[in-house]
Amino acid sequence: MNVGRVQEGLRTQCFGWSIILSRVAASTNDLAKKLAASGAADGTVVVAETQTRGRGRLNREWVSPAGGLWFSALLRPVLEPSHASRLVFVAGLAVAKTLRELYGLDVATKWPNDVLVNGKKVCGILAEMRTAGQRIDYVVLGVGVNADFEVRVLPEELWESATSLKTELGREISLEELFRALLESLETTYDLFLNQGFAPVLQGWKSFAGFLGKHVIVTNVDERWVGTALDVDNDGSLVLRLEDGTEKHVHAGDVSVRIR
Ligand code: ADP
Repeated sequence: MNVGRVQEGLRTQCFGWSIILSRVAASTNDLAKKLAASGAADGTVVVAETQTRGRGRLNREWVSPAGGLWFSALLRPVLEPSHASRLVFVAGLAVAKTLRELYGLDVATKWPNDVLVNGKKVCGILAEMRTAGQRIDYVVLGVGVNADFEVRVLPEELWESATSLKTELGREISLEELFRALLESLETTYDLFLNQGFAPVLQGWKSFAGFLGKHVIVTNVDERWVGTALDVDNDGSLVLRLEDGTEKHVHAGDVSVRIR
């Protein structure tokens, strides 16, 4: 990863002008949180060539080999803490748009925090927050894209559910070009959210949603719902029609969705 090349021609006001590159990081989210605690500014970005302890939600492992784009952006939005989870949709929309525009791929968003290409997970998003009283001190928005490596580099148990840009496109991917485009799209989408609210972000995100209308199984640590995914509502909850005909709103916490 050549940070100078990422910043060459970067069309952002804020995102990506301070990039901390770590060749090998435990987790870019952890590194960004440390920087945040020591006062780093809004828009600071941490990127690693590999992560040794990349995380998904609930501390699940996120496998992060060389060739992937593993980065975290530090944000200090003036927002109610309960609205921070909306930033996952900001990132999801930014990634989905970028992958479609740069590569012309068949991209879909999957509630709440994944982006799929040809139905397989190509990107995971992890937002973590620290509050100070009733306000947000910071949000770290982690984005991991399986970019310039073949899916076969991942453990075999992921070959069915995951893919990479290199595998889908059958060619090499420039990490710098992808990173620059993502930073631009992330900033545009974040500004849209701050200036115009969640509605246009959600509308854009839903225009990529591949699971609406489908039969899904939704699980969290100790509950499980089966039904049809009807919608995502204004606070980011998934609206399900359960098999008994009732509607259920599931909050985007540590919930997983499988499409049946
Ligand atoms: P989910 O979206 O499945 O609910 P998370 O968002 O927490 O889960 O992501 C972690 C999960 O993603 C892991 O348990 C594993 O199944 C899968 N995974 C791990 N590394 C990768 C990767 N590089 N690409 C795609 N999927 C991955």
